[in-house]
Amino acid sequence: MRDMLPLLEKTNFPAIRRAKMHTLQVNLGYLCNQTCFHCHVNAGPNRKELMSESTIQELISLMEVAKIKTLDLTGGAPEMNPHFKMLVKAARALDVHVIDRCNLTILEEDGYAWLAEFLAEQQVEVAASLPCYLADNVDAQRGDGVFQSSISGIQRLNALGYGLEGSDLKLNLVFNPQGTSLPPAQEALEADYKKELLARYHIHFNHLFTITNQPIQRFGSTLVSKGQFEGYMQLLKDNFLADNVAGVMCRTLISVDWLGYVYDCDFNQMLDLPAPIQGEKKLHITQLITQANLKQTLQEGLEGQPITIMDHCYACTAGQGSSCGGAL
Ligand code: SF4
Ligand code: SF4
Repeated sequence: MRDMLPLLEKTNFPAIRRAKMHTLQVNLGYLCNQTCFHCHVNAGPNRKELMSESTIQELISLMEVAKIKTLDLTGGAPEMNPHFKMLVKAARALDVHVIDRCNLTILEEDGYAWLAEFLAEQQVEVAASLPCYLADNVDAQRGDGVFQSSISGIQRLNALGYGLEGSDLKLNLVFNPQGTSLPPAQEALEADYKKELLARYHIHFNHLFTITNQPIQRFGSTLVSKGQFEGYMQLLKDNFLADNVAGVMCRTLISVDWLGYVYDCDFNQMLDLPAPIQGEKKLHITQLITQANLKQTLQEGLEGQPITIMDHCYACTAGQGSSCGGAL
């Protein structure tokens, strides 16, 4: 995706520095049971890239050193990493809140009958993409049969208490627009989703997170090929809201790729723009937990460290703002 960089390099986006880090976001690898058309990591059943056990052990040390509050797991399908259970259990033993970015269909796959109960037993929060409450729209974006399988997955989670009022088991859904518009108001769309999903499928969830499409990866390339890149960037810039800058997610998280390298956020990871902590060019978590100066910076929560910004950052601040947890 480095070919997108010349389009994003020159930016007037305000310089930002880190606040105290509380979240560790980890990509456990590109193996997935699905092959969605829009997938930004080209994940699929034949991918071999998986975070190793030794890197996962280092992550556990990092959580201890940095006193991490939340571990946010992505992939691929993060549950397909053979060390997934070990990592979740270790994080929970450290009293770290765990979020599993689950594609829902994995809950229905052969060999994963244990998954829903395991997530419930470990009190893992589930965040799942469901771009529409209509089957045709979801299948067109994510593959034939994905909608029905996703609904079955949610029903399985609901049966364990996920997403129900008064339950501690949290199930949040994630929406992103199909095209070149900003997401609609999060609260109103959440109300629509709740009404429709309850009426049609008797399913429950806690919150809907709306996320603005980033002009990078496959979406960025599609914009370029359709001659819409400049127009979309202008839309993001025209809707810049300065109040959103303080809340962008990179100020309080680091994103780690399957090899253990450190980025300011998932988008910068996809663009191969490493986090410039202490001026390092490409920082590995081994350095963060073993090199004295870096370890001290880590213990201080990386506060005050710079963040790599480019034009794509305007997607995080447009309109109601956008982060892994939805509107800002
Ligand atoms: S489920 Fe997610 S990771 Fe898997 S192919 Fe689809 S978009 Fe990619
Ligand atoms: S794209 Fe990443 S670095 Fe830029 S503002 Fe958003 S979260 Fe921060």
